[in-house]
Amino acid sequence: MVLRTLPLGEADRLVVALTDRHGKIRAAARAARRSQRRFAGGLSPGVVGRVELHRGRAGLWRLDGVVPELDHGALGRDLDRFAFATYLCELTDQLVEEQHPEPALFDALAHALSTLTQGEASPDAIELRRYELALLHQLGHAPGLEHCCVCGGALPGDEVPFSPERGGALCLQHGRGAPTQPQSVLQAALALSCGAPVPALDAAQRRRLRDLVFVQLRGLLRAPLRSMELFTQLAAVGAGDAAARVAAASAVAPTTVPAARGKAGRL
Ligand SMILES: [Zn+2]
Repeated sequence: MVLRTLPLGEADRLVVALTDRHGKIRAAARAARRSQRRFAGGLSPGVVGRVELHRGRAGLWRLDGVVPELDHGALGRDLDRFAFATYLCELTDQLVEEQHPEPALFDALAHALSTLTQGEASPDAIELRRYELALLHQLGHAPGLEHCCVCGGALPGDEVPFSPERGGALCLQHGRGAPTQPQSVLQAALALSCGAPVPALDAAQRRRLRDLVFVQLRGLLRAPLRSMELFTQLAAVGAGDAAARVAAASAVAPTTVPAARGKAGRL
């Protein structure tokens, strides 16, 4: 899965990708800016495909071709979906170390990107939370949700004291003075973390869940996410004017915005 690309010399690209077997890698794609044959699906964030890789020197691999496995048409046509794919890839790129194979995380990102091309594309989409929680789990920073994360004691009923700094949910004694989260939101986060059916949440609860997970992630980021600026710009322009949306997105996107290339439907 392509996370990020950078120009490399005149015609090449440096590709940061998440692979199932080798974890996150950096690879040089020779003549990638010219070769439509070897890189037929393009090399944008969110592209999922089979790659031909050769181990090179100093941790830099050589990427000889990509055969796309996921139809990216939906991401190419829809700037909101494109923004979410960019967000998932940027988050992964920032937080995952190189050359540590993590097949569960690979599967989780593949699932998230795949559902993003078909399912709901909103900041409160449950599939985004599922991936963010999988990422937190992989990094060893998943919030404690079932018991008090200080004493292991039982949590109170409806409103649960919750502190990201202290590791998650707290009992009444240890959570004195801490902000609270609704039990329903913690239950949803727990269900997402362990693959159980997720209880239905209303709009307010989904926002709470988004904030709960994001606060946890934000503490781990080395730098602000550029894709956040992309969301802000798209929201500012609104849904109406397609050209204005492309222009606004192009000004801040960490990669080329699909419609801006004049090849809609293709990343
Ligand atoms: Zn406690």
